[in-house]
Amino acid sequence: MTTSTDPHTPAGSPDFPAFPDLHGAVLRPGDDRYDAARAVYQGRAADEGPALIARCADEDDVAAVLRHASAHGIPVAVRGGGHGSDGYAMPGGALVVDLSAMKAVTVDPKTRVVRAQPGVLLGELDAATHRHGLAVPAGTVSTTGVAGLTLGGGIGHLMRRHGATVDNLLACEMVTVDGRKVRADEAENPELFWALRGGGGNFGVVTAFEYRAHPVGPDVVAGQLIFPFDQAADILGKLPAHMATAPRELGLLAAIAPAPALPMLPPQAHGKPVLVLVPVHSGNPAEADQVVEALAALGRPLANLVTKMPWPRANSMLDAVAPYGKRMNLRGGYLPALSADVVDALLRNAAAAPSHPGAAATINLWCMGGAISEDVTEDATAFSREGAAWLWEAVGMWDTPERDTQYEQWATAIDAAVRPHSLTNGYTNLTDDLGEAWRHGVHGSEAKHRRLRAVKAAWDPDNLLRFNKNITPATAE
Ligand SMILES: Cc1cc2nc3c(=O)[nH]c(=O)nc-3n(C[C@H](O)[C@H](O)[C@H](O)COP(=O)(O)OP(=O)(O)OC[C@H]3O[C@@H](n4cnc5c(N)ncnc54)[C@H](O)[C@@H]3O)c2cc1C
Repeated sequence: MTTSTDPHTPAGSPDFPAFPDLHGAVLRPGDDRYDAARAVYQGRAADEGPALIARCADEDDVAAVLRHASAHGIPVAVRGGGHGSDGYAMPGGALVVDLSAMKAVTVDPKTRVVRAQPGVLLGELDAATHRHGLAVPAGTVSTTGVAGLTLGGGIGHLMRRHGATVDNLLACEMVTVDGRKVRADEAENPELFWALRGGGGNFGVVTAFEYRAHPVGPDVVAGQLIFPFDQAADILGKLPAHMATAPRELGLLAAIAPAPALPMLPPQAHGKPVLVLVPVHSGNPAEADQVVEALAALGRPLANLVTKMPWPRANSMLDAVAPYGKRMNLRGGYLPALSADVVDALLRNAAAAPSHPGAAATINLWCMGGAISEDVTEDATAFSREGAAWLWEAVGMWDTPERDTQYEQWATAIDAAVRPHSLTNGYTNLTDDLGEAWRHGVHGSEAKHRRLRAVKAAWDPDNLLRFNKNITPATAE
């Protein structure tokens, strides 16, 4: 069978065997565990189901499935933690390599090296490292998978202090599309290792990640400062100068989101947009109070919910606004500056956001700077960060297909307003796939794009791994 090089196209007449020797499970439509297995974070993925889910128990299972796919030219989707907003982990009609059962994590407290299998979720990673007073810099919602997050880049509360997840990645073990097991690190397959640090799931199926962890906590100072919407323009206007001198220990997210129904907020504010600053200070707690007070003094908060808490609690506080299984869309990009025009565009779109019970339309601004921006050069990883002062993302979440159009229109409108202010490069994981021109520029320079396509051609020349932010092999033209 010949394969199309168009991304995201399931095979024409796939030949899916029973894989009788698999140590894990093979699930098809109608099987008892099929519906539970295909449930992922993106609720819209449930509209169509894959043809076969190979729930792999180990790397031999992964190799067996990939060998078959390779021999028959069948495109393969890969499920790690299942958080990808595009739902590429469970495409309709596809063959899925499901890694969610591969959950081993080991921590060596002496070397601070952490090894995680691809089914590990961030909450599980934090729990394992926190026992030793350590943390791997990663993302901010505990149900996100380490696998997709790492392969895209990985940003979070620790990025200004310790960099992106890929900046702390020491090695990957990978099964190639033709079923070979390889290692990629600075010494062995270094070009592949470079591509795996930001190029996504384009090159093979990663079966283990090795990270460098850092001492964090056990307690950090974190929480929310909630400001009325009418102070948002003023505070966001002051924030860049404020953060320019803030310590690297301070991670900061600014969110424009519907106000939660908290008793300390006036009832008339509930569900209406507010500005929420989410500081996480991972340094000396004795120094944190002053840092947080300075942030609070940027306006007059309705509520100050910042307090000392264990690191895993701080790194899962956003779980409350990230319920599993909602229909969702995601637009995002990098901003070179938080100009008055950008702030105006963001606030206008926040005010125009649809509002329904059980739904939410939220705009997030992540402050870059510090280690993620200054300690690693742009060409050191496929993950791009050049010129990014802020990362913006607009997240829509709702329940029913009838609302799809309304939330898509909101996402399209905010994208149209903010994209002209955004850089061409971006973070692949915090936006939906925006098409070929976007994929061409998202990793940065033309040279990086060409380099990624060459690595793709070396490791997946037939583009079997195409259910992703696809990098087409250099040989495809
Ligand atoms: C609510 C929410 C919060 C988020 N918060 C953050 C955050 O704080 N920081 C951040 O950086 N990102 C964040 N993200 C984005 C997140 O990094 C991506 O969605 C990421 O793809 C999730 O990885 P996963 O393994 O859970 O997802 P999956 O959907 O399982 O995988 C996504 C894609 O990665 C590839 N893939 C997964 N595993 C493998 C593997 N082992 N080998 C090869 N390819 C693989 C596949 O192409 C797959 O389609 C968030 C997303 C959501 C929805």
